[in-house]
Amino acid sequence: MMRQEGFSYAFDPSACAGCGGRCCTGESGNIFVSPSEIAALCALLKIDESNFRMTYLEKRGYKFSLRERIVGLSHDCIFYDREAGGCSVYEARPAQCRTFPFWDYYKSRVDELKRECPGIVDA
Ligand code: SF4
Ligand code: SF4
Repeated sequence: MMRQEGFSYAFDPSACAGCGGRCCTGESGNIFVSPSEIAALCALLKIDESNFRMTYLEKRGYKFSLRERIVGLSHDCIFYDREAGGCSVYEARPAQCRTFPFWDYYKSRVDELKRECPGIVDA
């Protein structure tokens, strides 16, 4: 069980096995990446940065987000592998993904988070 100071809930990572990647699919959203995260993803994928930007990134305002792939009604993250049931760039996934579900946004929206993530339990 994972807990983090300042959060009223805990997270059970064993829920991920049967979840189907709800945090990587579903409604459209932003998965922001920083320059150092882009560099880490390029190194993992062994592609150059301009190719990576064209293939995997979308400009959103003044930031860059990972692209999404439409699958039925879902907006999957471009790196979500439905066959394997997980992230295809797990070792280099951005901080936004690494820190989920402990986001400040959810501190006052625990019910919304529980609807999205079956691993959330009351601390
Ligand atoms: S939504 Fe929660 S349980 Fe499902 S994969 Fe994401 S973190 Fe794991
Ligand atoms: S980078 Fe990986 S962990 Fe992050 S949203 Fe995409 S598939 Fe999920």
